[in-house]
Amino acid sequence: MQVTSQADRSIRLRMRIVVAGAGIGGLSAALALARSGHEVEVVERSGVIGEVGAGLQLSPNAMKGLAALGVAEAAEAVSSEPEALELRIGKSGGKVFTIPVGQAARKRYGAPYLHIHRADLVDILKTAAERAGVKIRLDARLAAFRREPDPAGLRIGLDTGDIMWADVLVGADGMRSTVRRLMFGAEHPRFTGAVAWRAIAPIEACPDLPNAAVVWAGAGKHAVTYRIRGGALINFVGVIEESDWQEEGWDKAGDKKELAAAFAGWAAPVTAVIGAARSCHRWALFDRDPLARWSEGRVTLLGDACHPMPPFQAQGAAMALEDAVVLARCLGGTDKPEAALLAYESKRKKRTAKVLTSARSNMGVFHRSNFATQAATYGPMRVANTVLPAFVRSRQDWIYSYDPAND
Ligand SMILES: Cc1cc2nc3c(=O)[nH]c(=O)nc-3n(C[C@H](O)[C@H](O)[C@H](O)COP(=O)(O)OP(=O)(O)OC[C@H]3O[C@@H](n4cnc5c(N)ncnc54)[C@H](O)[C@@H]3O)c2cc1C
Repeated sequence: MQVTSQADRSIRLRMRIVVAGAGIGGLSAALALARSGHEVEVVERSGVIGEVGAGLQLSPNAMKGLAALGVAEAAEAVSSEPEALELRIGKSGGKVFTIPVGQAARKRYGAPYLHIHRADLVDILKTAAERAGVKIRLDARLAAFRREPDPAGLRIGLDTGDIMWADVLVGADGMRSTVRRLMFGAEHPRFTGAVAWRAIAPIEACPDLPNAAVVWAGAGKHAVTYRIRGGALINFVGVIEESDWQEEGWDKAGDKKELAAAFAGWAAPVTAVIGAARSCHRWALFDRDPLARWSEGRVTLLGDACHPMPPFQAQGAAMALEDAVVLARCLGGTDKPEAALLAYESKRKKRTAKVLTSARSNMGVFHRSNFATQAATYGPMRVANTVLPAFVRSRQDWIYSYDPAND
């Protein structure tokens, strides 16, 4: 840790920080930490940095995270902006409720609600991180770490045999985090009982697709459609309750016929997008209960490594972005990294646990199994949408109005 005197009498402490994982969480953390003056190196087990060909919803809280990282404009330039968030009945296409976003979100939350291609976001974060001085080491899997007496700090072992030294280690290494296992022991994630299918189709497949993030609800399954890449492409996610297939990884190819059969008879936008998709992939969905502690000494966790959640609230990456901004704020200008990491986790635990609970309960809401339960759930929602639209809109305020730069 170097202590540098500054003319303005503030003391700036530059730490050596290693971030494990170059996903959205790790790259955001590296960028935020480098921007607050630290020397940051990212280690990534893969040989390339990239995301799968799929979309991502960036809610206003996520956009405020990107604004704090200085990349909101770059993200907006390659995004699509929906006019609304909608819940519809999958088979009939009938609307249950609509929450206006577009200008309404900008006004209400001070940031837009956008849709982006994951690869575009990762590219923006990586470029900005490297410009801020972050070094990225590929084909480098973190395998071990241990605390050595100061001033040496943390000794980090890679599977290449290389050793790195750091003042702080951030485990942003995803759902099956090695850093988490080394800190707290092995413990398996919980299978949600659902598998996500993803596909992308050109907008020509369904030019009438509502310019909205639409959840199409049905018995034991739901689909999500929205536009990406300035409206040129349609992103499709289909979530199906299934118990006998539990493989993770976006690169597992799925059988398009199987996907089409699962959504046969659904509203035209859903079937048209599946029909026009060149290929599809599937991924079993897991989550974990909230962790009691995220940090130990000078090691902490971030993103899916500490709070993996099912995608039913579209908030996993948003939470990682928020974590990154709050972590960098806590570690800025301190000579007590252990205390800073405890402050970081105490700011983040309650909110991420609440979002996890909300995401879990959405699966039940989207998958009502028969006409009676659908009527009992969606009937009152429809009425509320007509009679109390302001109430329906305000239900997302606790998520979208949050600004990690001001917490
Ligand atoms: C179907 C679906 C739809 C979703 N939609 C949305 C959405 O619309 N909006 C939203 O906000 N979120 C969404 N999410 C959630 C979001 O994708 C994740 O929460 C987010 O990508 C997690 O990022 P991360 O960086 O924490 O983890 P990851 O993306 O898993 O990155 C971890 C990285 O660490 C690397 N790694 C692992 N182990 C090691 C090691 N030992 N050493 C070095 N590197 C290592 C991995 O290779 C990887 O690059 C969705 C998720 C799914 C499944």
